[in-house]
Amino acid sequence: MKPPTAVPATRPPLRSLDDALAELLAHAAALPGSESVCTFDADGRVLAVGVVSALQVPPEDNSAMDGYAVRSTELSDEGVALRVSQRIPAGSSGGALEPGTVARIFTGAPVPAGADAVVMQEDCEPVAGREGFVRVLQIPKPGQWIRRAGEDVTRGATVLSKGERLTPAALGLAASIGMDQLQVAKKPRVALFSTGDELVMPGEVPPEQMRPGAIYNSNRFFLRALLLRLGCEVTDLGIVPDRRDATLVALRSAAAAHDLILTSGGVSVGEEDHIKPAVQQLGSLDLWQIAIKPGKPFAYGKVGAAHFIGLPGNPVSSFLTFLVLVRPFLLKLQGASELLPAALPLVADFDWPRADRRREFLRVRRNATGGLELFHNQSSGVLTSVVWGDGVIDNPAGQTISRGDTVQFLPFSELLS
Ligand code: AMP
Ligand code: MG
Repeated sequence: MKPPTAVPATRPPLRSLDDALAELLAHAAALPGSESVCTFDADGRVLAVGVVSALQVPPEDNSAMDGYAVRSTELSDEGVALRVSQRIPAGSSGGALEPGTVARIFTGAPVPAGADAVVMQEDCEPVAGREGFVRVLQIPKPGQWIRRAGEDVTRGATVLSKGERLTPAALGLAASIGMDQLQVAKKPRVALFSTGDELVMPGEVPPEQMRPGAIYNSNRFFLRALLLRLGCEVTDLGIVPDRRDATLVALRSAAAAHDLILTSGGVSVGEEDHIKPAVQQLGSLDLWQIAIKPGKPFAYGKVGAAHFIGLPGNPVSSFLTFLVLVRPFLLKLQGASELLPAALPLVADFDWPRADRRREFLRVRRNATGGLELFHNQSSGVLTSVVWGDGVIDNPAGQTISRGDTVQFLPFSELLS
């Protein structure tokens, strides 16, 4: 391992990601109030109130198959012929089952009183020459093909808890107990802007006319998309030039009606980095050097009542720092109970002989054998790595990896939802 290089006096000391996260989350008090939204529109929102069922699901015993409802005790012999005494399609309910008969029944229809099993139609056949009779070819077990009343949800059960983030399946479950509205946390209002005089918006200048030193603004696109996925209301303030006065104007106007101001770039300590003095002039700011790679510079502060978070400018640093710090922060503002994804232990299919003194997030992809392959370029500017990858390895500081080692994998499928 390389000895640590001397740190200039202006640089704050490195702090661990765990400490930084704990401190950041300590600032993230849940936003006050909640709102009622149509269940159709509640995907991704965080429940402010648990959902309790006023009924049981299914409401009564019903058939899991198209077939015949029977009394199993009357069917001790295979091939016995019985009269079909009633027909019960889904959506209707039949009468009690006459002894010595069966009921034609369809999937989802309530099982008639007296019946204790369903024989699927494939195990029955019509009786030649006896209209209205059926031969049961299989001896049923009691309870066969019956979905029991309340087997999904019992009356009074909390089916979804406060703090749960709603998924498509959760919307279905809420609907199954009759909820057309859900009480959810308010959307965090986030003002987003990028800093950097080198930045050009795609569409403003065609690639062949880009001036030397100019680059397209990529951070704005993924940060906006990430915020939207996390249920935020985004005000996109575009690119703010590298000038103190412009930065102050942007911050002042953003602070008024937002819960969070999120910026990328300009949080290093170069003289072109205006975020720090501007935020300090209007409020307070701590600049952190977080011991992660990619990542490192990160700023947290307040401008008026609004939180301020400054992400690094390098695209992959910005992206990953958002996922490991801003994502849990925004979830906590919404009162979510789960803030961090669980890492999966998986096997590395590569060697990583060069340990770093910082905790590293290595861009990897699962291969066909379930192992992890490493993207060939782990530079903090290479956005291709996070598109190619389907997650990152959370690799502790000072840790080398040899092929076959078990590592901790954080899938983007969880981090990006
Ligand atoms: P900074 O943190 O402002 O010093 O920026 C670090 C690096 O990230 C520089 O190479 C910037 O050009 C680049 N960068 C900053 N902001 C963006 C952005 N919005 N999109 C793409 N690259 C950026
Ligand atoms: Mg910059």
